[in-house]
Amino acid sequence: MISALLIDLDGTVYSQGQGYPGASFAIDFLRRRKIPFRFITNTTGMSRGRLVKRLAGMGIESTPADIFIAPQAAALYCRKQGYRRVWLATRDEAVFEEFDGLELTQENPQAVVLADLRDDFNYARMNALFGAVLAGAELVAMQKGRYWLKAEYGPTLDLGPYVAALEYATAKQAIVVGKPARLFFDLALEGWSFPRAQIAVVGDSVENDLRGAEAAGLQSIMVRTGIYDAEAAGNSADWTIDSLVDLPALIDRL
Ligand SMILES: [Mg+2]
Repeated sequence: MISALLIDLDGTVYSQGQGYPGASFAIDFLRRRKIPFRFITNTTGMSRGRLVKRLAGMGIESTPADIFIAPQAAALYCRKQGYRRVWLATRDEAVFEEFDGLELTQENPQAVVLADLRDDFNYARMNALFGAVLAGAELVAMQKGRYWLKAEYGPTLDLGPYVAALEYATAKQAIVVGKPARLFFDLALEGWSFPRAQIAVVGDSVENDLRGAEAAGLQSIMVRTGIYDAEAAGNSADWTIDSLVDLPALIDRL
């Protein structure tokens, strides 16, 4: 029995900004059946408000409360640790709104929160981040992905290699708050009282969604879209469907 779902966005609901056919049908089905769900994503450069607009453009109505994102996990983590002064290293100002109530500063920060800076990762920036962590700030990584597939370009460095560089230089471990960290799923579930065995993660990434679900004691539903890799998944997913459009039929069967 599945009582609630955590549904990955990129590669599951949409790809390259385009909604997958049938994604809105599947979401409408969950709403009609009153099955609680939240969208989850490791995307570091967007606020929930921006994602609500993106989803609306695909015919999927949502509110920020329906979405849980890596920047939000980072902000929640900082608040739980009691940090007040945070260096939020991002090039996407939309993310600032997730850090409401925290003082965003590069002066003696208690934590350095690292988003994907893409072209802004350069020697001076990395050296400044290194200095802050060496001086005592905790390194909080929104995620630690190795690479991602960029349209018409191919494999592109993700945030992970830069996190690894800072870890190596400082001999300190980063706290990774995005998928597949158990912390991410723990925070994404807050407010739900269902047993974990009744909550499923729906996603395309074996590393982030499937392994993350396993580590967090959640069920897994893999979709064969996005970066799904059948070989890597093996037989370990609880269920596998061709795409999100098949989710209603699966839920009906369970
Ligand atoms: Mg995905």
